[in-house]
Amino acid sequence: MIRTRFAPSPTGSMHIGNLRTALYTYLIAKNKGGKFVLRIEDTDQVRFVEGATEIIYNTLKTMGLLHDEGPDVGGNYGPYTQSERIGSYMKYAVELVESKKAYYCFCTKERLETLTDEKQDIMQYDRHCLSLNDEEIKKNLDNNTAFVIRQIIPEGSTTFVDEGFGEITVDNATLDDQVLIKSDGFATYNFANVIDDHLMEITHVVRGSEYLSSTPKYNLLYEAFEWKVPIYVHLPLIVNQDGAKMSKRRGDGSVEDLMAEGFLPEAILNYIALLGWSPANNQEVFSLEELTKVFDTKRISKSPSAFDIVKLTWFNGEYFKKMDSDEFFKLSENIVKASVKKACVDCKKLSDMVKSRISFVKEIPELLDFIDALPEYSTKAYIHKKMKTTEENSLISLKEALEVLKSQEDFSEKSLHDAVFELIEKMEIKNGLMLWPLRAALSGKESSPCGAIELLEILGKEESLRRIEKGIKMLSK
Ligand code: GLU
Repeated sequence: MIRTRFAPSPTGSMHIGNLRTALYTYLIAKNKGGKFVLRIEDTDQVRFVEGATEIIYNTLKTMGLLHDEGPDVGGNYGPYTQSERIGSYMKYAVELVESKKAYYCFCTKERLETLTDEKQDIMQYDRHCLSLNDEEIKKNLDNNTAFVIRQIIPEGSTTFVDEGFGEITVDNATLDDQVLIKSDGFATYNFANVIDDHLMEITHVVRGSEYLSSTPKYNLLYEAFEWKVPIYVHLPLIVNQDGAKMSKRRGDGSVEDLMAEGFLPEAILNYIALLGWSPANNQEVFSLEELTKVFDTKRISKSPSAFDIVKLTWFNGEYFKKMDSDEFFKLSENIVKASVKKACVDCKKLSDMVKSRISFVKEIPELLDFIDALPEYSTKAYIHKKMKTTEENSLISLKEALEVLKSQEDFSEKSLHDAVFELIEKMEIKNGLMLWPLRAALSGKESSPCGAIELLEILGKEESLRRIEKGIKMLSK
C-alpha cells in the first residue's frame, strides 16, 4: 500500500508551493488507493509561528485534501505533530551512537564559530569530538555539559534515485557531519524526518526540489539503521513571472491571500495541479476526483514552473461558469442586492446572468450598474459594423419598437420575445438590426450581461419606454 505524507513546518501562512506539494502528495497516494498522512514538522522552535498549524489544517480542509489518519481530535483525525513525538528521536540517535554511526559533540558555540568559513558563511565541522574516548564522553555527560549528536558521514559516495530527477550521485566529502539532536534536546528536521518517515511506513517521500541536496544525508541515515529507503519524488521549483523563486518569507503566493482576493479554492487547486505536472492530453479543467484518476508521477516536470496570476484568473472564471446556479447565488446574492436598488428585479436572475461573465464576484457591481441608472452614453453606441447598424437605421428600429412596446401589456420574457420577433419579421430586417439598437438604448453600454429582451423584462415597461424614448431623442438630433 502506498503511503505518503505532507510534512509542512508551521512557519506562517501556507503558500502556493506548500499547497502544490500537499496536492501531489495526496494524488500520488489516492491514485493507487493509498493513504495520505499530515505531519506537522515543528522541531524548529525558533521559526515556529503561533496559529500556523491551524492555517495549514484549515487550508487543506477547504481544498478537500483530507488526511486519512492521525490522533483523535474531537472525533476527527488531527495531524501528527513532531514536537509531541520528541522522546522517540533521542532513542534512535543514541542507538546510532552505540552502533558508531553517530557521536556526541560537546563543542561550544565559540569553538564552532572559529570553524565557520566567513566568505561562504558555512561551517564544516572538523570532527573534533569524534576522537573523544568513552571516559571523556561519560565525564561530559555526567557533568551535564551541553551536547549535540552528530551523524558520521562515511567516506565514499552516495547514490539515490529520484522519480523525476533520475539517478543522483554525491561525493560524501561534500557532506557535513550533520546534527541529529540539538542542544535543546529537539531533533533536527533532517533527523526527525527520516525517523518519522520510517515509523509511519511512508513509501513515497514527496517534497520540493530544494531538498534534493539533503537527500544523500537521509539516505545515509536509512543505511545506518538498515531501513528501506523510500521512493523520492522531488517537485520542481515554482518561480515568479520574473523567474525569481516564490518565497513564503517575501509574502508571495499565500493561499489565504489569494482566497481573500476572491479566488475559488477549486480554481486554485486546479491551477496549481498544472504547475509542474501535465496530463497526457491537453485538458486543463480538472476536478480533484479527475486529477486523482489521471495523476502520474512520470509526467511531473523537472524544470521550474512560473506562477501566472492571469492564468489563475482564467481558471476562476471557468469555475464560476461551471458552478451550480444556486451555489453561485449564495456567493453573489449580497453583492447583487447591493448593486441594484430597484426592488422589483429578480436578483436570482441577475445572478445567473453575470455568472458566466466574471472572474471575480467583485466585478458584479460594474456589470449591473446600468440597471438603477442609465449611464451617459454617446450615439456611437448604436454603430456596430458587423450588425450593420448605423445611427439612421437604429432610429427607425427604435421608433418601431417603441410603438409595439407601448401597446405591450405582458412584460415577461416569453411574451416580449414574441412581440419583438414579430416586429422584426414584419420589418423584414436582420435580428441584429433591431436587437443591437434596443440593447444600446436600454443599457447605454457597449456590452451588457444580457440581451435586449432580458433587459426589457428586468427594467419593466415604464423604464424601458423611457430609455427607448431617450435613444430616439438622441438619434434624432
Ligand atoms: N518540513 C519541511 C518543509 O516544510 C518538509 C520537507 C519534507 O517534506 O520532507 O519544508
